[in-house]
Amino acid sequence: MKKKVMDKRNKDFLKFIEELDKACNFRGESKDITWECDHDHRRCREILLKYENIDIEATIKYFEKNGGYCDCEVLFNC
Ligand SMILES: [Zn+2]
Repeated sequence: MKKKVMDKRNKDFLKFIEELDKACNFRGESKDITWECDHDHRRCREILLKYENIDIEATIKYFEKNGGYCDCEVLFNC
């Protein structure tokens, strides 16, 4: 079966974003907001592994094309 990209057209995209949001552990509000990010896609990759038939490399490329160069930027920009 052909693997799919986790993009906005994917039915699980919002679920994925919610999981990523949790994985980055956002806390605080407005100016005092903090989160965890290691400036790579380790959280994205970990979460994407749980979905079947997802092309992880193609998905990371899609994120980067849309300004998501690390886990938190995926949340901000994608
Ligand atoms: Zn980041």
